[in-house]
Amino acid sequence: MKCPYCNYPDSKVIDSRPSDEAIRRRRECVQCGGRFTTYERIEKTPLMVIKKDKTVESFDPEKLLNGMIRSCEKRPVKMATLEEIARNIEKSIRNEFKKEVTSTELGNRVMEALKDVDEVAYVRFASVYRQFKDVSSFMEEVNKFIDDRKGEK
Ligand SMILES: [Zn+2]
Repeated sequence: MKCPYCNYPDSKVIDSRPSDEAIRRRRECVQCGGRFTTYERIEKTPLMVIKKDKTVESFDPEKLLNGMIRSCEKRPVKMATLEEIARNIEKSIRNEFKKEVTSTELGNRVMEALKDVDEVAYVRFASVYRQFKDVSSFMEEVNKFIDDRKGEK
């Protein structure tokens, strides 16, 4: 951000206030010390989720988080950890898929993330998410997970 006083190309942010549509930044020129304010508009493109039955709904970060919270019930998982996972998933999905993503892809990412956080939460999420038709296909998944774990050790 160029300084409006001396045109020096570098400034430091001394204060930053987010609002719904813009981030207001108070900046100080590192050369002349002049202070100025910039507004950065946040552009949020809608992200659509294509469900298994081919219907489409807009991506809802809260829904994503709630699904994880349910899986982590009575487990030693911090809320902040789940919020971070949700943020990271949204970020990576927006980066890679831009406008639309399948619910399968979304669910896979949650499973991947939960795997590293809590094994019980992972299995719970997987069982709800994958909607296993029977116990044996569910056990297959669990065993695969356990084998993966052994392979890592
Ligand atoms: Zn300056």
